[in-house]
Amino acid sequence: MSQLREEIDADLNPGPVHFTELKSKQNFHPLLCSVCGRTVYADDAGYEGCLRSIEYDPDNQFVCDRCDEEIDVASHSIGYVGY
Ligand SMILES: [Zn+2]
Repeated sequence: MSQLREEIDADLNPGPVHFTELKSKQNFHPLLCSVCGRTVYADDAGYEGCLRSIEYDPDNQFVCDRCDEEIDVASHSIGYVGY
């Protein structure tokens, strides 16, 4: 059941699909994070989704899940914390 939902999600939304740090049978498309330069591997749906969004808007670079989280957190807290 959850498998089916993921497939539908991947079709509708190129965002939250499967990216892994290690190359696997499903995740074999290397993507370079534009923030940290880390390489992650995407499955077919994830890779195509990324290519499509980059074609649509060249500024729309791939950002790995780790940086995406950090950006998300940063956008919620305005200004600098500490330092
Ligand atoms: Zn990153």
